[in-house]
Amino acid sequence: MQKYQLLIGGEWRDPASGEWFETTEPYSGNVWALIPRADRSDADRAVEAAYRAFKNPAWAKLTGTQRGALLRKLAELIEANVELLGSVEQRDNGKLMAEVSGQVRNVAQWFHYYAGLADKIEGVVVAINKADVFNYVKYEPLGVVVAITPWNSPLALTTWKLAPALAAGNTVVIKPSEYTSASLLELGRLALEAGFPAGVVNVVTGFGPEVGEPLVAHPRVTKVAFTGGEVGGRAVNQAAAVGFKKVTLELGGKSPNIVFEDADLEQAIKGAISGVFGASGQTCMAGSRLLLQDTIHDVFLEKLIAAVREARIGDPALMETQIGPIATRAQWEKILRMIEMAKVEGATCVLGGHPLEGPGYGQGQFIAPTIFTDVRNDMRIAQQEVFGPVLCILKFKGQAEAIRIANDVDYGLAAGVWTQNLQRAFECVDQLEAGTVWVNNYRSTSFTTPFGGYKHSGIGREGGTEAIKEYLQAKSVWITTRPNRANPFVLG
Ligand code: NAD
Repeated sequence: MQKYQLLIGGEWRDPASGEWFETTEPYSGNVWALIPRADRSDADRAVEAAYRAFKNPAWAKLTGTQRGALLRKLAELIEANVELLGSVEQRDNGKLMAEVSGQVRNVAQWFHYYAGLADKIEGVVVAINKADVFNYVKYEPLGVVVAITPWNSPLALTTWKLAPALAAGNTVVIKPSEYTSASLLELGRLALEAGFPAGVVNVVTGFGPEVGEPLVAHPRVTKVAFTGGEVGGRAVNQAAAVGFKKVTLELGGKSPNIVFEDADLEQAIKGAISGVFGASGQTCMAGSRLLLQDTIHDVFLEKLIAAVREARIGDPALMETQIGPIATRAQWEKILRMIEMAKVEGATCVLGGHPLEGPGYGQGQFIAPTIFTDVRNDMRIAQQEVFGPVLCILKFKGQAEAIRIANDVDYGLAAGVWTQNLQRAFECVDQLEAGTVWVNNYRSTSFTTPFGGYKHSGIGREGGTEAIKEYLQAKSVWITTRPNRANPFVLG
């Protein structure tokens, strides 16, 4: 049994509480590691360490090229530890090994990308409308950044924050989900090994109210980057506002995946499946509302059900498994509650709708892939995020109705469009209220392009050059080039 410690100021420390909590494998139900239960005093220590590191010339005076070299070294260490990081993350959240190993390689790519950007943070000389002054704008780091992340893709979602924050010259305190802390403690170890000065990367583990809230409220913190649910996101946003802190929020979604009659239906079926049954639906970008044009509804549904029935469900550690368990017991219970809610609301369950137990299903934290038809968009099952393998199917007649249904939701994280009509594709892209639109594909992401939400799905963007701006602030510099003879009492 592995017993972890907190990473604060470059040192491994026991939590002030002297308490640890258990972390379990979703498939087997086995407790496999003990995670430190940090509290307010650990949060204070971590922020103070990060603040000292931010002021320390060993970090503050590094050039962008030198910061980039450290990020590159970390990327290389991640590449050398893909198996270890993948297996730790896979044990903790029960995600498919087939997906996790690819995701960890991708995490290394994110660090490579931001390593390259670290010495390309350029200011600008501004053409000022006044004589005898020179003005330029330089971009500076914000200071101490707190990164708070959920359980579904801990390494990836933390990297989306950590890589640009470090490239920009900030220092970071990471607060992982209480369900999946181990992989980020391992990442902290690699950051130390890469040579980041003490306190530049800190990891404190524990629960939202005990350590997350004190981190957000700490006066030395200048930015909070949060990925999680709407409730936590709102609480973090409100707490950060008290200290006028900058925030990035990556929240939930109820994303529409729209299939028109002229689509390549075989491809669209694959897209519908990966959209909502990939990662057992435990992704913010799940295409959980499938909008089918009425003319293809029946044939599409029949083929979709047939394809989903073939899914290999079971042990996520096996490379051939296609659908794994639900990551936490609480989430499993929530999904089942929402399935019952949909039935009560009048939706028709045409596939699944129940837990899976027995041989091959470990400790039984599985839910059968579930499809509902006869869904109205005003039902709660069509409006609220399930974060599980539950698909709602809605019918539409034409493009205008499809767009109206697609946008008629509080969220706006992502959307999919399946059509072979180029004009229709572009029109939908323009009309959809979503931070990402996929045309004839679903769930593609890359470090090179921004990701984030419209409406209740969040604030700010992660990925690409856009993300580094989220960790910088502009300073406008005025330099007099000739003595000023004007009246000092009147602003010129
Ligand atoms: P959650 O909001 O319960 O927890 C996320 C993190 O916030 C955890 O580390 C938790 O301890 C912490 N936290 C909770 N309340 C807090 C508070 N008041 N102050 C400080 N920290 C607090 O989310 P979850 O259940 O772990 O994750 C699932 C949610 O995450 C889903 O709603 C999903 O859509 C969302 N998500 C969004 C994205 C995205 O990029 N938009 C990606 C993945 C997951």
